[in-house]
Amino acid sequence: MVLFGHVLTHMLVSASLVILILDRNSNTSTIRRRLFFIISGSIAGVLPDILGPGTVYTWSHSIFLSPILVIPLVLVSRIVYKDKSLIRVWLSFTTALIIGHLLVDYLGHEVALFFPLSKMEISASILLLGDPWIWLPLAVGVLIVFISPKRLLVLYTVLIIVFVYTGLRVCSKVNTEALIKSLHPDQSSTQYVVIPRTSNLIEELNPLDWLSWSFEVIGEYRVITGSVPLFGGSANTNFNVIFPHVGIITNVNNIVYRKGSSNTEQYFSVNYETYYNQQHYILANDSTHELVFALLDDKWIEVNGQLKETLITYMSMKLIDKR
Ligand SMILES: [Zn+2]
Repeated sequence: MVLFGHVLTHMLVSASLVILILDRNSNTSTIRRRLFFIISGSIAGVLPDILGPGTVYTWSHSIFLSPILVIPLVLVSRIVYKDKSLIRVWLSFTTALIIGHLLVDYLGHEVALFFPLSKMEISASILLLGDPWIWLPLAVGVLIVFISPKRLLVLYTVLIIVFVYTGLRVCSKVNTEALIKSLHPDQSSTQYVVIPRTSNLIEELNPLDWLSWSFEVIGEYRVITGSVPLFGGSANTNFNVIFPHVGIITNVNNIVYRKGSSNTEQYFSVNYETYYNQQHYILANDSTHELVFALLDDKWIEVNGQLKETLITYMSMKLIDKR
């Protein structure tokens, strides 16, 4: 379902743009003509993925190659409908491919947009591609193109809806990052990751699941994960632990994780986190003992002795108050 929605998003954005640019005139527009532009626009929208798997992926998703990729489509369109200038048809398919495929991919996942000038894969991580809040309005808009005399108005409206929704997601992501940093202040090296709630492609997401972020806080000593609703609401933490030994924060293909000393590395659940005499402390436990950690010189160090007892009492009381 997610993959279906992903492909559909590329097709619908590109098809809408081709209709808006090439088929504006309602005097010449027939159902057959609209169908042709929707199909050819949809093909432009998926071309990089058709040509792209494996080693040419980087080439097919390069913004510099887009004007060349669309040439066969431009030529076919010109044979079918001769009333448009070649340059206009070419520009419209190139625009459809760049916005409908490359920009959409960039909003969702890593893509080497400027290959071969830069091999760096970049992503805004704003959308999980396949989001029904994007493709459903577009699908309705493209269907209406066949029946409504106000088809251009309808297409503009759905594109504006999609644009506003994407803009709201950008604002929400910035807010969520600030929220997570304030909820979980940590070491200076700690990484804060906010990405669209992901699906494992087997389990279906219900429409409201798409309106939330997944967050990860990855520190040398800590891992915290959870979710935050897109539009208001508080953070739900589902995993929050501290490791007694330092790990290495690693980034592989833009996925950040903490590499510990071994796979069986021990960790403790964080129960409470607070400041006491301007010092940052954590109360943690495993099934048998309670531990206290302090953030000293940008490192989490275990606290023992009398101070530990005092802090356990202090934080346990706070914890009871909270409940
Ligand atoms: Zn792609």
